[in-house]
Amino acid sequence: MKIEKTSAENQLKVYRPKKALYIKKEYAGLDMEKFTEDETGSFYNYLSEGCRLCQEGAKMVLFVTGLCPKSCFYCPLSDERRGKDLVFANERSIKSDEDLLKEAELMNALGTGITGGEPLLKTERVLHYIRTLKASFGKEHHIHLYTSLAPDRQTLEKLADAGLDEIRLHPPQDCWKDLKNSQYADALQNAKKLGIEAGIEIPALEGAEKIAAFAEEMGVFLNLNELEFSDNNSKALLKNGFCLESDTSNAAAGSCKSAGIAFTVCRKAHFCSSTYKDAVQLRKRLQRIAKNTAREFDEITEDGTLVYGVIEGGDQELAEKTLQNIEIPAELFEIKDGKIEIAWWVLEELKENIKEELESSGSRLNIIERYPFEDGMLVELIPL
Ligand code: SF4
Repeated sequence: MKIEKTSAENQLKVYRPKKALYIKKEYAGLDMEKFTEDETGSFYNYLSEGCRLCQEGAKMVLFVTGLCPKSCFYCPLSDERRGKDLVFANERSIKSDEDLLKEAELMNALGTGITGGEPLLKTERVLHYIRTLKASFGKEHHIHLYTSLAPDRQTLEKLADAGLDEIRLHPPQDCWKDLKNSQYADALQNAKKLGIEAGIEIPALEGAEKIAAFAEEMGVFLNLNELEFSDNNSKALLKNGFCLESDTSNAAAGSCKSAGIAFTVCRKAHFCSSTYKDAVQLRKRLQRIAKNTAREFDEITEDGTLVYGVIEGGDQELAEKTLQNIEIPAELFEIKDGKIEIAWWVLEELKENIKEELESSGSRLNIIERYPFEDGMLVELIPL
């Protein structure tokens, strides 16, 4: 039986997750002519290689430990990770090198960003992962590292030897006023001398213009992340006088303005908006994974999620026989974990003919949308 996709496709529109709303940002008199801006309100006049690959959704996020000696009031770490010596690659818990490599292959990663917690509390682990990734994916697999510490020359030499490409220092706020005379200045100088691209990455807060002037003087790039409310830092942000920019975003009011002020004195600058991470980075990463994992009958949405139909419960044999009797091509469905997963438009088309019979045996017909990996998060379930 010939299955038409049209009408069901129109219906599908209701299934797509909501888009991040674009909010007009305040740039504090910054000459935006010199900046590239995207639909999420991020803007830059310079992108490090690490950021460029992140914008393609091609950077794996390697969280090497939740341990950290700092206590930034804006720390966004979740309870699941904060203060815990755990390793994650994106959402995957890492128990072995195989786990790590599998996650990188799944998303066809072109690079990795090493973060935490404080990665350099586990330097040997960081060195091991850099070597493992470079050995598996070649030296062109770009690796950047975040650290709130000021690594000494010896540590930087080990990182450079292992193949680290880019380092981003996150000096704590109490150092901002006199960075020139701090160990962070030495660390940046040494990193540059060792051929590691060096930069600073901090939240966009008042006073960031001091960092911007310092970055300009050092000839390093400056990434300012829009300060955002998260489950774990909202109390501290409110206590420090911050409020939400609007009721449709987690951004803290005024953070973008602080970036605008800072960027008037820095020629290598990038402001990363809070919506960017969900609206672009995650979506693009999911799209990459979906390309690798989608079955012929899975619909890949523009958000990188997969949509397909499911016949579950009841008499599965009867359901399978029913599909075979009406000659549904084998490539349009599969038996998986005791359920039948099938092209959603096929199920949509068939429901009138088969629903009664299958439901009488206790089967349920649903359309599912979920993240494109094993046990990926369920985004939407629509009973037919
Ligand atoms: S350095 Fe990072 S992980 Fe550590 S407290 Fe600050 S924000 Fe949190």
